[in-house]
Amino acid sequence: MGHVEQNLNRVRQKIKASADKAGRNIDDITLVAVTKNVAIADIEAAVASGVTTLGENRVQEFMKKIDQLQNPPVRWHMIGTLQSNKVKYIYDKVELIHSLDRLSLAKEIQKYARYLGRPISCLVEVNVAQEESKEGLQIDEVPAFLKQLTELEGLTVQGLMTMAPYTENPEEVRWVFRKLRELSLELAELKLEGVAMRELSMGMSNDLEVAVEEGATLVRVGTAIFGGN
Ligand SMILES: *Cc1c(COP(=O)(O)O)cnc(C)c1O
Repeated sequence: MGHVEQNLNRVRQKIKASADKAGRNIDDITLVAVTKNVAIADIEAAVASGVTTLGENRVQEFMKKIDQLQNPPVRWHMIGTLQSNKVKYIYDKVELIHSLDRLSLAKEIQKYARYLGRPISCLVEVNVAQEESKEGLQIDEVPAFLKQLTELEGLTVQGLMTMAPYTENPEEVRWVFRKLRELSLELAELKLEGVAMRELSMGMSNDLEVAVEEGATLVRVGTAIFGGN
């Protein structure tokens, strides 16, 4: 068994154990394998081991990889900061954009949704922990932002995304995930058109267990799958 397959087994076990602990159904959690700086052979190994969804955060890298990884088909998610002028490269190739954080970007996405003739799915990125170094809206900005989005046809919000601060002890960031989930419940109550609160993209290699316990539906895992050998 290669290192990617071994790592994947470990990650899947962790997700399963955390889901069990929280009384959640494992089918409600999608593992997004994050491929930044990862060699094609390793990505292929992950796909061969059953990974169906890949996450990339750099448009240029994404463009290269998508050409090289045609078979079997995989779903791509754009998880990193997205410049408006790069939407044109990815709009017809990604299943979900995790990093919607401003109106100018939303308008650009809408433009390409019109070309496509179908809505483009996005998550709104929230900077729950208010870190200066991180993108995303402040919690109290999200309701007004979503209301603005309801005026843009062609863009559907499927939920929220956050990145927790890096920490040695994931218990310290449990509150971040809990807060995002509470926010999504509050926002669901608003019943805004084109806004569903079905996805919570949260949890990375070092905090995925806590995130799953707190309700993550998409976990974005890079190092724990592709690191080491
Ligand atoms: C790199 C990255 C991840 C994965 O991080 P790991 O710690 O390697 O699991 C998840 N989300 C985003 C937005 C990233 O840029």
